[in-house]
Amino acid sequence: MKVLVINCGSSSLKYQLIDSETEEVMAKGLCERIGIDGRLTHKPASGGKYEYNDPLPTHVEAVSAVLAKLTDPEVGVIKDLSEIGAVGHRIVHGGEKFAAATLLTEEALTEIDKCSELAPLHNPANLIGIRACQKLMPGVPMVGVFDTAFHQTMPKKAYLYSIPYDYYEKYKVRRYGFHGTSHSYVSKRAAEILGKDVKELKTIVCHLGNGASLSAVKYGESIDTSMGFTPLDGVSMGTRSGGLDPAILEFLSKKEGLTIEELMVILNKRSGMLGLSGVSSDFRDLEAAAKEGNERAQTALDVFTYRVAKFIGYYTAAMNGVDVICFTAGIGENDAAVRATILSYLGFLGITLDENANNIHGEERIISTPDSKVTVMVVPTNEELAIARETVAIVNK
Ligand code: AMP
Repeated sequence: MKVLVINCGSSSLKYQLIDSETEEVMAKGLCERIGIDGRLTHKPASGGKYEYNDPLPTHVEAVSAVLAKLTDPEVGVIKDLSEIGAVGHRIVHGGEKFAAATLLTEEALTEIDKCSELAPLHNPANLIGIRACQKLMPGVPMVGVFDTAFHQTMPKKAYLYSIPYDYYEKYKVRRYGFHGTSHSYVSKRAAEILGKDVKELKTIVCHLGNGASLSAVKYGESIDTSMGFTPLDGVSMGTRSGGLDPAILEFLSKKEGLTIEELMVILNKRSGMLGLSGVSSDFRDLEAAAKEGNERAQTALDVFTYRVAKFIGYYTAAMNGVDVICFTAGIGENDAAVRATILSYLGFLGITLDENANNIHGEERIISTPDSKVTVMVVPTNEELAIARETVAIVNK
């Protein structure tokens, strides 16, 4: 079956067409500046990168443009839209309602809409993308795959905040966790590579990208994760603060005369690596600046690696041990220096790093030595493939 995977943001839409039998990506691309002017970049597997600047006033025109490119005689990869067997939509928030991927019936869409309150920037955009696809591909099954679903196995002690219980009951204020599709894919893939059953392993997944989160995956189930009620919690990130003392908000509000909305923008967009360094949110820029003697850039890197190492410590305690630590996403897959610094805190776990394996680029591999007590791996994430697999599983049910 050919599956179209759609990841819709408020002004963007990423897509991949995946042949689920071969798991080959037939084409992928990105619509940007939807509602502003419009830009589409389309890359068929055969090579080439095609850019278009046709207006994309809404997501309907964006989906329509994507479908036109996929079936285009020159840059397309299918003859007819009827070849697309299903569409898999990435959805950010499934609340407590969705613990797994689901067929997008009207009832499911109503429930997703109810979760919009929990992800006001993301779920409405996801819904717009779903509606646009339904309009242009009537009758094609649509499946929703949720960022939060994998973490729904967390026990109460992990997901409750210690605030009045009423707020959980009335408003569902709790830890949800995000990047679930990636944590699920990477933990399973690591077990596969090791020739083991994921249900026998205690795994810590470090998804370190512009957004970053860690998860404790015990015997195949997420039992804790660092992002919380929103993706702001946990480790420091590109521009997000990660966890902080909530009383800082009141303090800064009074000192700087800032509203809560202004403070949230600062914590989401002007904090993390960017806020600390004043240089950039990108680790390549930070490392280059640190090499040239920029102390704040070095401090930002130190804060990041220290926090990630501490979370590995928490999750080792949470699982009473760890067998496998996996690094994934932009930084986790590409930044050997960051991995080495994080692991330098963890010698007490009996971890020894294989420097050569750590310095290779971009492949699935073990980066600990054979006698290391914990196996450390780099496992590139593939959220689109994971979404395509889940979509096929739901459609074939
Ligand atoms: P992601 O959100 O997973 O796409 O990750 C994006 C981030 O990965 C970028 O902002 C960079 O900080 C980081 N990154 C990507 N490539 C490299 C690299 N070669 N070395 C260090 N960091 C990288």
